[in-house]
Amino acid sequence: MYKIIHNREKCIGCGACAALCSDYWEMDDDGKSLLKGAKKNKDTGNDELEVEKLKCNENIEDSCPVQCIKIEC
Ligand code: SF4
Repeated sequence: MYKIIHNREKCIGCGACAALCSDYWEMDDDGKSLLKGAKKNKDTGNDELEVEKLKCNENIEDSCPVQCIKIEC
């Protein structure tokens, strides 16, 4: 199991994640990306999604210019 964590506060809306991994990421109306199906962690304010396999998220941390995507396993 992996946990994908998105700090939307820091997202600058560059679109890299949505371009690289559109099965999981899309650009939202506010100009920031959205991790599809993620739930908000009330303590941290981050969006989180648990996945069995990373699939196209394999290199997603490195693709984000402001390091607002983290993957925990
Ligand atoms: S790569 Fe990072 S900064 Fe760019 S849209 Fe995705 S989360 Fe936001």
